[in-house]
Amino acid sequence: MSRTTGMGTSHPPTRRAVLEGIAAELEAAGIESSRLEAERLICHALRIRRHELSLSLAERIRATEALALARTVVRRLAREPLQHIEGTVEFRDLVLRADRRALIPRPETEQLVEIISAWTRAKAAAGTTEVRRVPRPGQRSVTGRPVSLALDVGTGGGAIALSLVQEGIATRVVALDSSLAALEQARENREALGFEDTVDLRRVERSIWETTRPHEQFDLIVSNPPYVRSGAIPELAPEVRDHEPREALDGGREGLDAIREIVRGGRERLREEGALFLEIGADQGPAARDLLKPERGWRGVEIRRDLAGKERFVIATP
Ligand code: GLN
Repeated sequence: MSRTTGMGTSHPPTRRAVLEGIAAELEAAGIESSRLEAERLICHALRIRRHELSLSLAERIRATEALALARTVVRRLAREPLQHIEGTVEFRDLVLRADRRALIPRPETEQLVEIISAWTRAKAAAGTTEVRRVPRPGQRSVTGRPVSLALDVGTGGGAIALSLVQEGIATRVVALDSSLAALEQARENREALGFEDTVDLRRVERSIWETTRPHEQFDLIVSNPPYVRSGAIPELAPEVRDHEPREALDGGREGLDAIREIVRGGRERLREEGALFLEIGADQGPAARDLLKPERGWRGVEIRRDLAGKERFVIATP
């Protein structure tokens, strides 16, 4: 791509040529959305924004830029997730940290929050007592009692918990995780948002339900638990398998270990007007229905599909 001058030095390639070269390399390595990823890698390495790149494609790459870019591309070719390289991930209205400490929140989980948001709004519109007017973060009801208390089981970096507060879906959230590394990331995300008073991060030592207090009753219980079958871990994309925490993915032999624990103890911690929201594996709908039977105290169970048309979300009510 670079042309040699008569003086023996070569012109550095343009940003456009480099972009095309990287996109081709990524594509050859089997990485989807190679053009978009190449753009993002260049923007990251050159510390510029997407629109600045598109306006400067004719510019030639400088030596220092080429070096930074080469380092970045090597990481991506080693299948490090793009979000880890960028250090951030967008989740709903938030920009959160992304690194090895916690699972990168996925678009499916954004959809889970959307489902909870719609449910809460419908509830408020119907005038039911527990989830009333959606309060602003930190706002209290006239009685001084927090209006809606949510529990996020396996919060990871805190994406769901922080969104619930940020979007006014819950006034206060108790967010649990067994991983200290994940909780540290969640703490950083929480601090960046100033949600120290509304999101209560707690470490699960032995079991989920020993980490909540016996008198705590929740309006919402939500979880994106580890739900991948142990045996399916080796088949995951290398980005996931080799770079994301296994404990956030591995749900045991059937992928149902965490789901079972949540369902088993969740019913008695949920207010009568409340609901349980879960993200599940695409083939776990029948098992979820079975666990949430009326004789186990769950009268309503609904399974919703994700944007790819797969069964992905459970809404269960007492
Ligand atoms: N959807 C994730 C994945 O397969 C799994 C997340 C989870 O187990 N909660 O990449």
